Amino acid sequence: MSPKWSAFSSDIDEIAATWRSERAERQARRSLDQADFDRLKKAGFLHTPVPEGQGGLWRSAAESTRGACEALRTLAAADSSVALVSSMHPAVLGFWLSAPEQSGSPWTEQKAAVLKTAADGAQWGTITSEPGSGGDILKTKARAIPDDAAETAFPGAAYRISGDKHFGSGSGVTSFMITTAVPEGEDAPSLFALDVRDRPWDGSAGLQLLAEWDGIGMAATQSHAMRLDGCPAVRFAWNGPIEEITRAAGPVTTCLFTSVILGVFDEAIRTAAAQLQPKADTLRPYEQVEWSRAELDHWVAVQAYEGALRAGESGDAAEALYAGLRAKEAVAELAETSLGRLAKVIGGGTFSRRSPFASWAEDVRALGFLRPPWGLAYDSLFATSFA
Ligand SMILES: Cc1cc2nc3c(=O)[nH]c(=O)nc-3n(C[C@H](O)[C@H](O)[C@H](O)COP(=O)(O)OP(=O)(O)OC[C@H]3O[C@@H](n4cnc5c(N)ncnc54)[C@H](O)[C@@H]3O)c2cc1C
Repeated sequence: MSPKWSAFSSDIDEIAATWRSERAERQARRSLDQADFDRLKKAGFLHTPVPEGQGGLWRSAAESTRGACEALRTLAAADSSVALVSSMHPAVLGFWLSAPEQSGSPWTEQKAAVLKTAADGAQWGTITSEPGSGGDILKTKARAIPDDAAETAFPGAAYRISGDKHFGSGSGVTSFMITTAVPEGEDAPSLFALDVRDRPWDGSAGLQLLAEWDGIGMAATQSHAMRLDGCPAVRFAWNGPIEEITRAAGPVTTCLFTSVILGVFDEAIRTAAAQLQPKADTLRPYEQVEWSRAELDHWVAVQAYEGALRAGESGDAAEALYAGLRAKEAVAELAETSLGRLAKVIGGGTFSRRSPFASWAEDVRALGFLRPPWGLAYDSLFATSFA
């Protein structure tokens, strides 16, 4: 690990230690606190996906994914909502970082300008999901109309987008959010970036809040539903189908999301072990078995995550994609099952909103629904199993 990454990691450890001591208050939150993101910015979190050449921490997906994931894993053990919102920043910029080089092209110029926004302190997120799409970004019903007069924050073709979107995690703390829409006169969807800085949510400037996030897990993520109505956007300058860039970014994205849920899972197991240790001798045989199986689920989840990171480090793109997806699905199932076992051993008190286990059990359920959500993920798993 480079000295820069080491300094960053120890700052993240310090932040997580403070946040952990505020757990009860944090788990009761239903909205984000800008101060948390200011603290993460000061620690250099926004620089994790910024290339070293632009003053950041990113060297390559193979060399830098682990560092970003481990930071998120540590943060998620202390505040799951802040960690999930933060994970969107490297996940989104991962589209530009992971795509094959198109040297001298508009894509390369756009990539440098986009990454500079992060280097300058802009936080990125995504509001791509649409009701009825089942998480499949190719099923977007949003429409994009070219508008050369629309102001743009970085190079790229200017459009105006209209359509309903939901699950915009980090709404209100992000500066830019990516989305999908079908450009006028075309059949296939494309990716776009929205400049959401200071954009009101009352519909007067293309963005209208339809519903505030009311998630029973990841409760403070502000994953609001929004209507885009002629919202200014910049089209991704990628010259090719969007599947090429989404596939290239897949291994990074799946590892980032998995690291957040694994962090929550780590903390649940640690907390349960501390609670159960003093009364280990008095556990009934059923409780002994359920506890052992909960620990086993966690151990297997860690191995799956490690396997995905190592596959990414191997540089084999196909292996990294399959391993990332398999780890995401495996950890999603293991975490849900294991949190259920912990509740049975620790007792009915885990139903109380005051019990951290009540929040964690809901938080870990997010992983299976994050992109690609269950049905879509299993389509890919099945398609690759005989390939
Ligand atoms: C905690 C969390 C955070 C997330 N953060 C993000 C994020 O930051 N950005 C992002 O883009 N996505 C985000 N997602 C969404 C995720 O990527 C998937 O898109 C989403 O989970 C898919 O939901 P779904 O399978 O219910 O399908 P959807 O089709 O999206 O359905 C969702 C809802 O729409 C209703 N619905 C279904 N069909 C229709 C229809 N025809 N018309 C109208 N409504 C319909 C369903 O009843 C359901 O309530 C997040 C998800 C979670 C759980």
